[in-house]
Amino acid sequence: MIFPDGLALLRTQALIAGDWCEAESGKQFPVFDPASGELIAQVADMDAADARRAIQAAAKAQVDWAQTPVKERSLLLRRWFDLVMQHQEELAQILTAEQGKPLAEARAEIAYGASYIEWFAEQAKRINGDIIPAPSRHQRISVIKQPVGVVAVITPWNFPNAMLARKLAPALAAGCTLVAKPAAETPLSALALAALAQEAGIPAGVINIVTGSDAAAIGAELTGNPLVRKISFTGSTAVGKLLIQQCAADVKRITLELGGNAPFIVFDDADLDAAVAGAIASKFRNAGQTCVCANRFYVQRDIYTAFSEKLEVAMRALRIGKGAEQGTTIGPLISPAALLKVQQLVDEAISCGAQVAYQSSVNATQGYFYPPTLLTQVPAHAALAETEIFGPVAALIAFDEEAQVIELANRSVYGLAAYVFTRDYARIQRLGEQLQTGMLAINTGLISNEMAPFGGIKQSGWGREGSIYGLDDYLNIKYINENF
Ligand code: NAP
Repeated sequence: MIFPDGLALLRTQALIAGDWCEAESGKQFPVFDPASGELIAQVADMDAADARRAIQAAAKAQVDWAQTPVKERSLLLRRWFDLVMQHQEELAQILTAEQGKPLAEARAEIAYGASYIEWFAEQAKRINGDIIPAPSRHQRISVIKQPVGVVAVITPWNFPNAMLARKLAPALAAGCTLVAKPAAETPLSALALAALAQEAGIPAGVINIVTGSDAAAIGAELTGNPLVRKISFTGSTAVGKLLIQQCAADVKRITLELGGNAPFIVFDDADLDAAVAGAIASKFRNAGQTCVCANRFYVQRDIYTAFSEKLEVAMRALRIGKGAEQGTTIGPLISPAALLKVQQLVDEAISCGAQVAYQSSVNATQGYFYPPTLLTQVPAHAALAETEIFGPVAALIAFDEEAQVIELANRSVYGLAAYVFTRDYARIQRLGEQLQTGMLAINTGLISNEMAPFGGIKQSGWGREGSIYGLDDYLNIKYINENF
């Protein structure tokens, strides 16, 4: 995608201490449009030394930002929210250019990310402490909450705006300053968001953005530098485990939003049209590249064929194409490697007995497109039932009994999101108790909003983003024992 003229928010330099700057080495790395493979930008390729400068800038800004009255922090966040929404279209165009998702989804991502800025602008004013009854006379126990300090933020390419906003907003509200490293595939959305934060008046050094292609080197500096008091990471479980190890050296706090493998369970009493609408929303948004994507469809045997046929009809209406083109509902995958991984998972499923019930065609000669694919008769042990597919492939597995499907659903090492379609109220309660997941959606394919706690259990992560709990990860509790 060639950028339209006049995109004022397009930045290719990193942001350190309020200055837009190149890497000390002068190096740059390329960013490509996944819908065409075309080069769209060359961005500052920073290394560990640049990251160190950014950390020092954040540490310098930390003292004053922590002491800035919450009302002022709140107003700055609110102003930033307003600017993001005023620039929604431009931010969406930048996002689609580097990430590939349809423009309508990009606009929705900008609004979703902004909703966290708005929410934490409000929550900043509610960082209340406690007075607790004391065990002795003339004693008072008081509790105050204080910012953890400098936070390093590492984000993935699948929601390059929202995953960053979901961390920056609570960190700033809590009084933390930060250094953020966006994914190398999608640095432009992060830089554009930071440009608006600067315009909103958020002081120099509070938000620093370090772009770079050597994630391991930058990550080692962020985790190893003692000035950084906390890491907030969204990405793969493999990298999350590595970061935990790296944080062990100085017992750095870490929160992790990691991979998922969501079961999508359809019982025979479900409203099948609602289940199909939920399946399309959950499975095919962002071409299947979301952490809460339905990954394994478990469908009760007596409605299996009816559900499969209805899902196929709905899938036939999906329009694959460039995200910037009117009417596109499925964009490309992020890279050739992503394309290969999805193809290999589908091939493996077919080799162990899965049937291709439907596969759309792809007309594009360029770009990393994978056709929406419906697989039936998928064996429960197929690799794609155990791995995040991260592509537009719906894999249907039949089940007979409630207890059996709970066991199948809980077999995964992940526990991020799960979806259940049923009209049986008692069953909803049972599954609510028994499914091992951080988030459970009943009779809907959409789960996330800023007022609800987003996060996983098991190997899907630690901590929650959004909601009244979302500030906790950025605050230390201090107990003061007052005797009088
Ligand atoms: P990834 O490979 O783990 O990358 C995520 C981020 O980590 C990128 O910025 C990446 O930089 C960086 N990184 C890679 N290696 C690193 C290292 N050794 N040290 C420090 N940072 C490192 O994941 P991804 O493929 O971009 O994202 C997809 C994954 O994210 C999926 O598993 C998905 O489920 C998960 N996700 C989870 C949530 C959630 O809320 N739970 C939300 C969205 C996505 P480079 O890009 O420069 O390599």
